[in-house]
Amino acid sequence: MSKNIEIKSVFKIKNVGDNVSISGWVKTFRSNRFIALNDGSCLEDIQCVINFEEIDNEILSKINTGTSLNIEGEIVKSQGKGQSIEILVKKINILGLSDPDKYPIQPKKHSFEFLRENAHLRVRTKTISSVMRIRSEVSYAIHKFFNENNFYYVHTPIITGSDAEGAGEMFKVTTLDLNKIPKDSNGEIDFTADFFSKETNLTVSGQLEAESMALGLGKVYTFGPTFRAENSNTSRHLAEFWMIEPEMAFYELDDNINLAEEFIKYIIKYVYNKCKNEIVFLSNRLIKEEQNIPKNERSELSLEERINFVINNKFVRITYTEAFEILKNSKPNKKGKFKYPLDNWGIDFQSEHERFLVEKYFKSPVVVYDYPSKIKAFYMRMNDDNKTVRAMDILFPGIGEIVGGSQREERIDVLKDRIKSLNIDEKELWWYLDLRKFGTVKHSGFGLGLERLILFITGMSNIRDVIPFPRTPKNADF
Ligand code: ATP
Ligand code: MN
Repeated sequence: MSKNIEIKSVFKIKNVGDNVSISGWVKTFRSNRFIALNDGSCLEDIQCVINFEEIDNEILSKINTGTSLNIEGEIVKSQGKGQSIEILVKKINILGLSDPDKYPIQPKKHSFEFLRENAHLRVRTKTISSVMRIRSEVSYAIHKFFNENNFYYVHTPIITGSDAEGAGEMFKVTTLDLNKIPKDSNGEIDFTADFFSKETNLTVSGQLEAESMALGLGKVYTFGPTFRAENSNTSRHLAEFWMIEPEMAFYELDDNINLAEEFIKYIIKYVYNKCKNEIVFLSNRLIKEEQNIPKNERSELSLEERINFVINNKFVRITYTEAFEILKNSKPNKKGKFKYPLDNWGIDFQSEHERFLVEKYFKSPVVVYDYPSKIKAFYMRMNDDNKTVRAMDILFPGIGEIVGGSQREERIDVLKDRIKSLNIDEKELWWYLDLRKFGTVKHSGFGLGLERLILFITGMSNIRDVIPFPRTPKNADF
């Protein structure tokens, strides 16, 4: 008998008459005769048909949903509809028993809330395993894209000593005994007694360090975990998420936007081809799910149509000021339908505004650029109007912001002025300012949230369901 092969390969080769050995978990076991087996290698279960004479009743009595098995058998043409081949079982080895009364993943529809409570087993469902296969392919495509475009992959620190990243609330990193916190003569915490002899945090962005790498290597990207202690509890925010941050020397804002658009399309196209079955499955799942909500709230396009739309159409590009005018004169604003009404130029857009632009007004991904300097970070390049900075956000249907980026301020005097006006301690940024002192050049970059992109590709609605073990306020189980 041949050695164990993946179910995916069995479907691919389909040599009727071959003897194979496969292993996996039982999805369903019907009529004491039909086992649907899945090993995670593909979406489809393989049907294994038992010939009663050949298999002991004692073995059959141990097979339940969730049991792990090794099956030896022959590939035969399928009698049933919906599958081309099946396995005629010759031998069954029980690998691990499963108590059918206690196994949470029953062959029926479970709510995502229930599955989150069983995050250690939820990958055995078709939906979550599809999402995780897609997540893996997205990650591979990211490295592939950058590698093909002559970027270097750099690893920026996860523990950071600079608290000027400015992208959100940070998690502290310390080895101090929280019951006996050392204090200095002013009664402040004495961080010189801490592990690093200074205050440290988990990174909220690798950007500043990536800038340093880009200003020597040319084009770089980071791809790693990012931590934000934001107590926002939305369906789009995690406390621990993965971010991709390319940084390019000699790139201006336009080059930056072009790269971001090309990059996103490349990833989506790659994954759409590679994971067609999963995407069709998830698209149908969404259609079924939306049958439970009012017609006018359902998506106008199916998941597959949305994916094709993004691949085939140029993203709309507008300035903050243009976007502001559209929103200000929009029906929902005039009728007071926005929770945050728009009146004065300079306010930050809320998710409701972003979604109006993308889903109602343009019906397309939208790049908004040249934001008011007041609502953006200190490192973004000031425009000649002295009011706006060379920032860009990419907004996606159903998600809102998926990318945030900018051309960076490379002029040391302008940068110092901004740092001062924001009351940031210049000393903290000494090395960042050094980059502007020694051979400064124009440069740009952006940050893309991996999970937000996966939300778009999978049509899932909660970010907690596209990462294996989500970390959110009050939740770090598993
Ligand atoms: P938002 O306004 O949605 O909170 P942000 O302005 O804080 O986003 P950036 O600091 O620009 O976001 O981060 C870059 C990208 O990282 C975002 O465009 C988004 O895709 C992703 N991102 C940011 N915060 C989170 C989070 N808490 N969980 C998951 N992804 C996130
Ligand atoms: Mn945020």
